[in-house]
Parts: sequence; structure tokens; C-alpha cells
Amino acid sequence: MASDPHCVFCKIIEGTVPSRKVYEDEELFAFHDIAPWAPVHFLILPKRHIASMAQLTEQDAAMMGRIMTLAPRLALEQGCRPYPGGGWRVVINTGAEGGQEVHHLHVHVIGGPRPWLKG
Ligand code: AMP
Ligand code: ZN
Repeated sequence: MASDPHCVFCKIIEGTVPSRKVYEDEELFAFHDIAPWAPVHFLILPKRHIASMAQLTEQDAAMMGRIMTLAPRLALEQGCRPYPGGGWRVVINTGAEGGQEVHHLHVHVIGGPRPWLKG
């Protein structure tokens, strides 16, 4: 389904739940995590409602590739320092045992000067 009326991240994308937006294009959306672990912590997600990484198919390869190439650009814009002295972490929690809390696929980008709260 394109949008799930019960999904908080779909509501953020539609603008009915507020967020601090980092980036938007026709396919992708990014916003700051409400409970950051680190000085930089934002989420990149497809606008289309996909429940988790477990639902990805070959048709999603280009979209996921775009997320992975957008991540370093946005990480630097948001204050992560350059590789190799700086850097960031990319995390995709998937399912209950993977620690996924919000069931709309999202990629965490976490970074900035240490210490971090977690990780
Ligand atoms: P995950 O455990 O990977 O599903 O992570 C969900 C993330 O979404 C957590 O880091 C939450 O802090 C974050 N989150 C949940 N609700 C919101 C919201 N309304 N705005 C921004 N971030 C949120
Ligand atoms: Zn959704």
C-alpha cells in the first residue's frame, strides 16, 4: 500500500504529524529522530509504506541504493565529520528480534562527536 493510515511515519510524510525535516524528494523523506542517541541522528525512509526490510524485493534495489548514497551527503550536511576521522553509523532494525519499533522501513544515520548515549 502507498500509505498506511495507522502508521506514524506515513503521517509525518503527509505532514499531519510534525517532524524536523532533513530532506525530501519524490521518493524519499528524512527527518531528525525524536530521541537521538548521538549529536546527529536522523532517519531516511521511502515515502511509500513498506513495513520493514523484510518486505524488500528486487524492484526496491534502486530506491535502497538511493538511500545509501544520500546517507553520506546528509550526514555531512547535518554535522558528521568526514571519513576517516569522523564518520557515522547506519542501522536498519528489522522485526521484533531486530529491535524494530516503527513498522515503516527506515534507515537510521547516527553520528557526530562522541560520547553517544548508546552504541
Ligand atoms: P526503530 O526501533 O528502528 O523502529 O526506530 C524507530 C525510531 O523512530 C526511534 O529511534 C524513535 O525515537 C523514532 N521515532 C518514533 N516516533 C517518532 C516521531 N514522531 N518523530 C521522530 N522520530 C520518531
Ligand atoms: Zn508508513
